[in-house]
Amino acid sequence: MLELIQKLYLKNDLTKDEIIYLLKNRNTEHEEKLFNYAVQTKKRYYGNSVFLRGLVEFSNICKQDCLYCGIRVSNQAAQRYRLTPDEIIDCCNTGYDLGYRTFVLQSGEDFWYTEEKLVSIVRRIKKLFPDAALTLSIGERDAEVYQNLFQAGADRFLLRHETASRGAL
Ligand code: SF4
Repeated sequence: MLELIQKLYLKNDLTKDEIIYLLKNRNTEHEEKLFNYAVQTKKRYYGNSVFLRGLVEFSNICKQDCLYCGIRVSNQAAQRYRLTPDEIIDCCNTGYDLGYRTFVLQSGEDFWYTEEKLVSIVRRIKKLFPDAALTLSIGERDAEVYQNLFQAGADRFLLRHETASRGAL
């Protein structure tokens, strides 16, 4: 078991069977070893620094219906909101004054924010805060839209792939 944990640490890889074995047979000693390795890995890349990002959740409206998600379209109980472009800029302003130099604009898949609106928001943010990095997390768009957002100044894009069914591929 400890050999498996060490292999995971050194190679960052285990077979499916090894992962299942590890999950089914772990004890407190194994978990401590895992946590220690996790801490060593974190320190190797980030030391003891903490990196803060200014996250602006600018809309919780989403056209998708992922079952695990609190803001999925069919959840009638969710109280919906949407920030205007000016309100988004205000949030960045506040964050910048507080010392943030990375902003993440995050929303559901809300197509009220057209490509044109998003490009305009990105341009305004990069003009006002040229030394701040900007990440977008707004769901699926066409490749052309991603390209235009990049050209407008977006530095990074966060797109999560949670699960997939092999049969649907
Ligand atoms: S696309 Fe994202 S925000 Fe929308 S329902 Fe799925 S997980 Fe939630």
